[in-house]
Amino acid sequence: RDEELAAIAAAPNANSGAPTIFDKIISKEIPSSIVYEDESVLAFRDISPQAPVHVLVIPKLRDGLTQLGKAEKRHEEILGQLLHAAKIVAEKEGISDGFRVVINSGASACQSVYHLHLHVLGGRQMKWPPG
Ligand code: IMP
Repeated sequence: RDEELAAIAAAPNANSGAPTIFDKIISKEIPSSIVYEDESVLAFRDISPQAPVHVLVIPKLRDGLTQLGKAEKRHEEILGQLLHAAKIVAEKEGISDGFRVVINSGASACQSVYHLHLHVLGGRQMKWPPG
């Protein structure tokens, strides 16, 4: 577990603004299982699901949003769109009754991909507190 955290902390593109794997998912260079898409956001299934439903919601344009901790006033509109898209994903996936939205921001939160993303999780009883 410590090694995993160290690897995340040392992620070569952490906040450098370098392209991430999500750019290739947006451009469809890498295939993904898309759940919802509009002009601003893309929602696709996580490759390593932590619940029966585990969907990532990302802005198509990163625009400096490597992580939530870098959000600025100008990002308010897209931040709202991402949350609204999370709700649409929950509806589409049949988990409107109960679901969780998670954003890991930074190494100590175990963020591993530096392109802002919301995790939408559900389909099982979630626990609190999270790990
Ligand atoms: P983070 O740890 O909050 O940064 O979440 C990154 C998420 O991206 C993890 O849950 C990974 O499983 C997921 N992920 C990484 N690469 C891919 C991919 O190619 N397709 C779908 N999900 C991915």
